[in-house]
Amino acid sequence: TKWSLLGLPSSCLEVIKFLQYEKPSSIQAQALPAIMSGRDVIGVAKTGSGKTIAFLLPLFRHIKDQRPIENLEGPIGVIMTPTRELAVQIHRECKPFLKALGLRAIAAYGGSPISEQIAEMKKGAEIVVCTPGRMIDLLTANSGRVTNLRRTTYLVLDEADRMFDMGFEPQVMKIINNVRPDRQTVLFSATFPKQMESLARKILQKPLEITV
Ligand code: AMP
Repeated sequence: TKWSLLGLPSSCLEVIKFLQYEKPSSIQAQALPAIMSGRDVIGVAKTGSGKTIAFLLPLFRHIKDQRPIENLEGPIGVIMTPTRELAVQIHRECKPFLKALGLRAIAAYGGSPISEQIAEMKKGAEIVVCTPGRMIDLLTANSGRVTNLRRTTYLVLDEADRMFDMGFEPQVMKIINNVRPDRQTVLFSATFPKQMESLARKILQKPLEITV
C-alpha cells in the first residue's frame, strides 16, 4: 500500500514525507481505510505497530471534513489513554501535523498541576489527549467545568486493555456518557480478552475488527 492511495489530505501526506515514514505499517494499511469509512473500529495491535498514526490521521481528516457544529466549543477529537507517558507520546506524534493543518491539541494527564492544563484548555483545542481521571476533573466543578464534550464526534480508547486493567472503567464510561451517541469510536488494544467484548458492545456500534 502507498500513502497516496489512502485518501488522506495532501497536507497530511506532506508531513508523512517529512517524517520519512516510507510506507504504511500493516495496522495503518488496514485500519486507515476502515476508520476513514466512518465505521467504528476495534484494532488489536501492540505498541510499535504504528497504531497511533492509524488513529490520528483519520482524526485529522475528520476535523478537516467536519462542518462546524453551531456555537459549540470543546474538543472534536478525544483520545483516552491509560498513562501520562502515553498521553505525552501521542501529543508529541500530533505536533508536526498540527502545524501543517492549523490545529491545536492539548495533553491533559494526572500527576501534573491542573492549573496549567486549565489555562491551555481555555485557549481551546480541536484535540485533547487525556488520561481518564484528569479528563473528569476538567469536565467537573474541580476545574470550573473548563471544557465539555458536546462537540466531540471522534473518540479513541487507546491501550484499552491496560486502561481497564488499571481500573479506569468507571471513569472511561462516565466520559463516554458525555459524548454524543452519533460519534465515531475507535478502540485500540494489545489484547482483546473475553471480558472486553461486552464492554466493547456498550461503547462501539457494529465495529469492524482488525488484528495484526
Ligand atoms: P506506535 O506503535 O504508534 O507507538 O508507533 C511506534 C513508532 O513508529 C512511533 O515512533 C512512530 O513515529 C513510528 N511510525 C509510525 N508509523 C510509521 C511508519 N509508517 N513508518 C515508519 N515509522 C512509523
